[in-house]
Amino acid sequence: MSALIQDPDCLFCKIAAKQIPSGIVYEDDEVFAFHDIHPWAPVHFLLIPKMHIPSMAQVGAEHAALLGRMMALVPKLALEQGCNPYPQGGYRLLTNTGREGGQEVQHLHFHVMGGPRPWLRG
Ligand code: 5GP
Ligand code: ZN
Repeated sequence: MSALIQDPDCLFCKIAAKQIPSGIVYEDDEVFAFHDIHPWAPVHFLLIPKMHIPSMAQVGAEHAALLGRMMALVPKLALEQGCNPYPQGGYRLLTNTGREGGQEVQHLHFHVMGGPRPWLRG
């Protein structure tokens, strides 16, 4: 599977391709991060693979390196975006999967939320 596979009807594929503007947080060949349009917290960004993976339900061993690199980016990006240092600060990392998991956009994304409380949600 190529890292360049896109779904022409997918909102987050279009955001990663910059066909739809977003507040870009980070980009490399395989990964894109951008501010959530409806933030729950002072810091709220989404980390996505550029390749179209609909959700965690489609993740397999072939994605281990990609997801590992994404997870390894989270601490760096969270601090850069204004999350306070662990342990007094920190952040929430979550991914919704499927309808019962509360997933609204069908392109794998990790929410990173942080900053001083109270938050709008969560
Ligand atoms: P989900 O419920 O699928 O886990 O989260 C989807 C997230 O995408 C939501 O938090 C929502 O605010 C965000 N979102 C939806 N459409 C857009 C958009 O067009 N631009 C940006 N930046 N975020 C979006
Ligand atoms: Zn997509």
